[in-house]
Amino acid sequence: SRPGDHVIVLFGATGDLAKRKLLPGLFHLATAGLLPQRYRIVGTARSRGLSDAGFKQLAHAAVEEFGSTKPTGETWRAFEDALSFATTDHSDPSALVAAVQAAEKEIGGHPQRLFHLAIPPTGFGSTIEMLAASGLAEGARVIIEKPFGTDLASAKALNDTVHRVFDESRIFRIDHFLGKESVDNILAFRFANGLYEPVWNREHIEYMQIDVPETLTIEGRADFYEGTGAFRDMVVTHLLQVLGFVAMEPPTSLSATALRDEKQKVFDSLLPLDPKHVLRGQYDGYRTEPGVAPDSQTETFVALRANVENWRWAGVPFFLRTGKALRAGRQVVTIGFREPVLRMFSVDGCSTPSARRNEIVIDFADPGWISTRFLAKQPGPEMLLGEAEMTFRYADSSGAANALEAYERLILNAMQGDQSLFTTAAGVERLWEISAPLLEHQPPIEPYLPGSWGPSTVGQVTAPYRWHLPEDC
Ligand code: NAP
Repeated sequence: SRPGDHVIVLFGATGDLAKRKLLPGLFHLATAGLLPQRYRIVGTARSRGLSDAGFKQLAHAAVEEFGSTKPTGETWRAFEDALSFATTDHSDPSALVAAVQAAEKEIGGHPQRLFHLAIPPTGFGSTIEMLAASGLAEGARVIIEKPFGTDLASAKALNDTVHRVFDESRIFRIDHFLGKESVDNILAFRFANGLYEPVWNREHIEYMQIDVPETLTIEGRADFYEGTGAFRDMVVTHLLQVLGFVAMEPPTSLSATALRDEKQKVFDSLLPLDPKHVLRGQYDGYRTEPGVAPDSQTETFVALRANVENWRWAGVPFFLRTGKALRAGRQVVTIGFREPVLRMFSVDGCSTPSARRNEIVIDFADPGWISTRFLAKQPGPEMLLGEAEMTFRYADSSGAANALEAYERLILNAMQGDQSLFTTAAGVERLWEISAPLLEHQPPIEPYLPGSWGPSTVGQVTAPYRWHLPEDC
């Protein structure tokens, strides 16, 4: 449903994220009739003194290049009318204050203020302090982009800074994987069906794999990547959030509190990551990328085994893998079920051990699909089995046209005040806490060839199981 009236202030309005995702996403929400009846979007940044007209042009170009809907017609004109720009000066925020007040006056009544901090983490603290000092923070909500800290101490310090100005109910920490339809559907798949949940536990599941290989290299973003690496960029954020959805107990309701409480229990049950079960890799050629140190120890690949020590999951390994310059780009959860107790049948075709194991594969790359893999008798006189699968594809579902992109969904939810799909202070701190042993004792970097599946020793992380993607067999 439509949120109430809003003034959205987009910090970092001239940045990459604003151009590729946020401005096109806001316009898509407008075309879907999901922006408030009355709204204004005030773009802001420090160094580019754009006029309102300049910002409208920037938004037009961004939507033209990256949007799913072209910037034309009445909807675009109405959207464009709602845009204005103010240059931010943290020592003198008067221009921003004036722009926000002007937007509020145009709307009338008491619109909700929503600040979206699409800026580098180095700017989070000073921007929040400026919002407090200028009075703009009063009654407002704030969306904060990832990464939320780089370790436990910095995450705590950032939480303290934010909490001095905004209470937790007004903070929306973004992890855009949580805005994906197909990640959210994990909840529906598990808890709206009687079929799966009874077997969703250690009695029936032998391992879980969460896999986000990427074919891209660092694409010239050495400044960002050198200080971050695959673990901080992907695992401590996205992959562990997905793990939270896959592993949580049924919540008592779909309220944000109930959902986030159950996810927190999973994080609390995660054992600290053991460096012995972590492999860090770096693709050949990384060190010669512009801006990368010739002896860089930054990992572009990480694979690890995590353990959720609770009644449901004790002893079930969770394998997580992600990296750059790998053979394929995928976003997949694979749930491997235990084999039947008796092996009565011969299996044709794929001869890997996993061929005998049922798997549920959840592909959460938008638009995503879910597949159940099982064995079936092959037609013919003999009792010979082959692999079969049943697949549901989002793109084929009747509501496919209503799909929202992750950022669109999250901005809409923030406007609605729904925190279900946002991370919590306790959650991010716990994930940094379990990461501490790894960050303090980083295993050495192992090289791998671009286009491969990572370092040749990657199998040691999963042994006696093996990594696999559905098409691997
Ligand atoms: P970017 O292209 O470097 O843009 C940064 C924007 O923030 C610019 O508008 C910049 O303008 C402003 N800015 C820079 N330093 C600032 C500071 N100290 N205080 C206030 N404003 C500042 O960065 P980006 O790629 O858009 O990323 C923005 C945020 O989104 C980051 O936290 C990033 O981790 C997160 N994110 C980005 C992506 C992505 O795909 N790009 C994906 C996920 C998360 P001025 O310098 O003129 O102020």
